[in-house]
Amino acid sequence: MIEKILIANRGEIALRILRACHEMGIKSVAVHSTADDDAMHVRLADESICIGPPAAAESYLNVHAILSAATISNADAIHPGYGFLSENGDFAAVVEEHGFTFIGPSPNHIRLMGDKIAAKKIVKKAGIPVVPGSDGAVTSIESAVKIANEIGYPVLIKASSGGGGRGMKIAKSKDEVGNAFSLARSEAQKAFGDNSVYIEKFLMRPRHIEIQVLADHHGNVVHLGERDCSLQRRHQKLLEEAPSPALNSCERVRIGEIVAEATRKIGYRSVGTVEFLFEDGEFYFIEMNTRLQVEHPVTEIICGLDLVREMIRVSSGAPLSFTQDEVSFSGHAIECRINAEHPSTFLPSPGKVGDYHAPGGLGVRIDSAIYSGYHVPPHYDSMIAKLIVHGSNRNECLMRLKRALAEYVIDGLDTTIPLHQKLLESRDFVNGEYDIHWLETFVARTNAGEL
Ligand code: ADP
Repeated sequence: MIEKILIANRGEIALRILRACHEMGIKSVAVHSTADDDAMHVRLADESICIGPPAAAESYLNVHAILSAATISNADAIHPGYGFLSENGDFAAVVEEHGFTFIGPSPNHIRLMGDKIAAKKIVKKAGIPVVPGSDGAVTSIESAVKIANEIGYPVLIKASSGGGGRGMKIAKSKDEVGNAFSLARSEAQKAFGDNSVYIEKFLMRPRHIEIQVLADHHGNVVHLGERDCSLQRRHQKLLEEAPSPALNSCERVRIGEIVAEATRKIGYRSVGTVEFLFEDGEFYFIEMNTRLQVEHPVTEIICGLDLVREMIRVSSGAPLSFTQDEVSFSGHAIECRINAEHPSTFLPSPGKVGDYHAPGGLGVRIDSAIYSGYHVPPHYDSMIAKLIVHGSNRNECLMRLKRALAEYVIDGLDTTIPLHQKLLESRDFVNGEYDIHWLETFVARTNAGEL
């Protein structure tokens, strides 16, 4: 039985996990840097331990300090949240070696999916469709050109250890392959300490559609439908919705079943997200995220489930509390990521929050750890709130989102709220007609005063 969980994270996700713990009668231990002394997750946890100075490398990524905090506080388990150590297989392994339960997948599955070349091979074998491309790592310009010629242009050269869109370069023709290959390799080496790269066909106007899965230790796997995360800027998601306006119910069931079956075949457990590009009715695997996603609330809302609770239950060895037949989808949900950033230049805007008023009412959920008087520190990710709304259909959801955004007051900082409001005025967005490149163009046109 898990009685006490240490939450190795901060911000809204630390609160999200803490809330699930408290609803399950589990004690919570917050860890924090000195920059987060006044953070809400510290205030609301049963216990809190300072693990280091503001720099994440010395606090939220400090494995020794986190393990010491777990030992001192007598925690049974560690939940990594997302970001920080959540996709570090070595961390998961060391947590288990010290006798704590890691609330997430096995260390081996985390390592496997962190190596994108290996991941692509294994999921392909398990029946998941992948983007056409090289069979494995490409090690010379000559072979890169040969493979790119076979696939057809444009191609994308990607880092095997990639994340956050880094180490990715497009080559539109044979002449560009050499340069793109060298740039991708050096960027990958700098960012990840691993210069292995592979090649994929560059899809021109895909949507980003991801499937949520949940698996236990007993071979039970369910899929919880898709999320459409095509609205991205610099490969960072800004708004997510479920269900996707682009899928019909046959496509939804087909891809869900393929993913659940593959998840079972590879022996995965806990929550996981299989990300696809979707173009002309076809799905192409890009990666599997072995953690809770920022955008998990849209799935929770349309499925009426608590994913963090399920994660905690399955890591303590319990079987899933429901079957695939019991999963049903209700209405439509949209999540807006609200960042402390200027809405058109995207420059970070840390500082003190002045007046704060969060929207509420029917179908509105706010996942945020900020409050009036709180100082948004400059050291971490700029996301300060997630506004998630639910409607019985997409139209109702859009109207509700509009009124919730209008109610939201966050004084003292620049935020991305005005950008979300502009989005809601866009006909393409309202019609659900957008691909992964659409937002960049929309932002450029808005900034140029054309929209
Ligand atoms: P990362 O781990 O760096 O986020 P991903 O493989 O998940 O890398 O890709 C991030 C984003 O890059 C995708 O959401 C998509 O927008 C774009 N992308 C990745 N692969 C392709 C591709 N083959 N064609 C077109 N766009 C791609």
